Order: sequence, then structure tokens, then C-alpha cells
Amino acid sequence: MDTEQLTQKILDGDRRALARAITLVESGRKDHRAKAGELLSELAKHKRQSLRIGLSGTPGVGKSTFIESFGMMLTGLGLRVAVLAVDPSSARSGGSILGDKTRMERLSRDKNAFIRPSPSQSHLGGVARRSREAVALCEAAGFDVVLIETVGVGQSETVVAEMSDLFLLLLAPAGGDELQGVKRGIMEMADLILVNKADGPLKPVATRTCADYSGALRLLRKRPQDPEGFPKALMVSAVEEHGLDNAWEEMQALTAWRKENGHWDRRRADQACYWFDQEVRQALLARLETPEAKAQMAELAGTVSEGGKSPGEAARIMLKALGAA
Ligand code: GDP
Repeated sequence: MDTEQLTQKILDGDRRALARAITLVESGRKDHRAKAGELLSELAKHKRQSLRIGLSGTPGVGKSTFIESFGMMLTGLGLRVAVLAVDPSSARSGGSILGDKTRMERLSRDKNAFIRPSPSQSHLGGVARRSREAVALCEAAGFDVVLIETVGVGQSETVVAEMSDLFLLLLAPAGGDELQGVKRGIMEMADLILVNKADGPLKPVATRTCADYSGALRLLRKRPQDPEGFPKALMVSAVEEHGLDNAWEEMQALTAWRKENGHWDRRRADQACYWFDQEVRQALLARLETPEAKAQMAELAGTVSEGGKSPGEAARIMLKALGAA
């Protein structure tokens, strides 16, 4: 299939074409990269936008249960939903957080939903680019909502937040006054904190946890992209499907406010610049990873350690060899 046909099929919402295009953006082959680039440029002309919702949480907090219940609720409202994952650990563990479709059995059978597991990649930079391009493909394919799941590992939250319009943090009820070791930086990224498992015997703990987080959020510096009352902590039960409609209403209210006040477009523009910057940096770093560059680095390091050249002088030689100076 040529790029023109593939472009048209994706715009028509053809799922097989979409799956094929995602495989294309995931490929490291040079000719595939070129074709993917062409395809993405063509699709970008149509300027279709989905609501991109990033979702993070530690393993076991209920992410897949939540995505299934929330996703089913959205398709029930007549919306088309795509689910993607950014999983920097998949390369190490050999598995994938979305690899097992049985995790979202109902949703994966829903014709208005599209679920794609995380690609296995060795480094987060590679996973990030491929995920971001997969999101762009889903947007072009006309999905109303794109859910991007990640586990709280290292930098993966930042990566997901930088490709999302809204960022949700899913937490489990927890006793004690420790805020579950959630890093301040992660809390600052969240638009909504959802305390899951607010059901059965866990409900009182969930209520307290939610109040704790509401208090913690109020102490954070006010961000220009937030109307009064945001970011917020809410209780949900993914299993009993409680609070999901309320969470969706809050997401819609926040989105509407941001659109009206110019924050939606600004965030998208800032994100485009962020990814431009990242691409340049990663391409430069990749130049250091070739066998020739590694050998030359080792050789120059040897010379520097023996005092044969100053660090600055050796660096200039290396940068010149890389074509970066
Ligand atoms: P993930 O690792 O974050 O994707 O978590 P899962 O969705 O696989 O859920 C982990 C466990 O928590 C499973 O045993 C779920 O049944 C359970 N769980 C998920 N959501 C809820 C909920 O709302 N209430 C309760 N009680 N259990 C839940």
C-alpha cells in the first residue's frame, strides 16, 4: 500500500490501516522511518485532535481495570477510544503492560475501541517517539479520546504528560499520613488524582486518602492552566464503576475551560517545541553510539587521562569528528 492509500484509509478510520501504520512508526528500518515521516506529515495537514488523556499509577493500583471501565463508559456515550501504553520497562522485562489483551477483555472486543500494546524498545527516548507518533496516528484516525497508560517508572510520567492534554494519577487507598511516597514532581503534573478502589471495606480509607491528597494539592503552587478548584482529587471504583462519570465531567469541564482560555493550544504548542528539542538532542546523542564514535571516545579518553590533551581540546576534536562543531 502506498503512502497516499494508507493516509486515506487512516483518515477513514480503518483500524487495520491504523495498526499497520503504528507498526511502521515502530520500525527502526530507514525506509520505514522515511515512509512514516511522510505519512505523519500528510496526516498532520488535517489537524485532527483527540482528547489525549495520560494515566499513570504503580502496578496493582487498577490502571487496566480503570481503563476498561472508563473506556466502556466512553464508548457507551458513543465516543471512539484508543488505548496506548508507554512502557519503558517492557524491553527489560520482555513483557508489556498492555501486551496481554485479556487485561481489557471487554474493551478489546468493543468495535469503538482500539488497544495497542507498548512497543518493546531499549530506551525511553525510542519508546517516547514511537508512542507520540502512534498518538498522532490515532488522532488522525478520528478517535475522540486517546488514553495513554504508563507505569510510574523513572521519567515515563514526564514523557506521557508531554504527550497528553490531561494527566491523571491513579492511586490506591492507603492508611497512615504518608502520602504514599508520591513524588512532588509527579503530583505537580497531575490534573486529577483519582483514588481508586473506593468500594467495600476500602471505602473509609479511600475517603481519608482522597482528603489527604485534596489538602496536598491545595498546597501546590497555582498553575496558570488551572481554573479554580483544580487540580482535584476524586474517588473512583473501577470495579464497581463508581465515580467514573463524575471524573469524566471534571475532565470535560477542565478541557472546556482550557480551550476557552487559550491554554489548550498553548500546551500543544509547548509540547511540540519540547519534542522538537528532544528529537534534536536524541539524534545528537545517537551519534555517540556508533562503534566508530565509541572507539574514538575511548581513544581520546586515554589521551586525556595520560595528560596528552586537555579535556577541552579532546572534546573539540570529538565534536568535529561528529560533525557537531
Ligand atoms: P494495574 O496493574 O494498575 O493495571 O492494576 P489492575 O487493573 O490489574 O488491578 C490490580 C488489582 O486491583 C486487581 O486484582 C483488580 O481486580 C483490583 N482492582 C482494580 N480496580 C479496583 C477497584 O476499583 N476496587 C477494588 N476493590 N479492586 C480493584
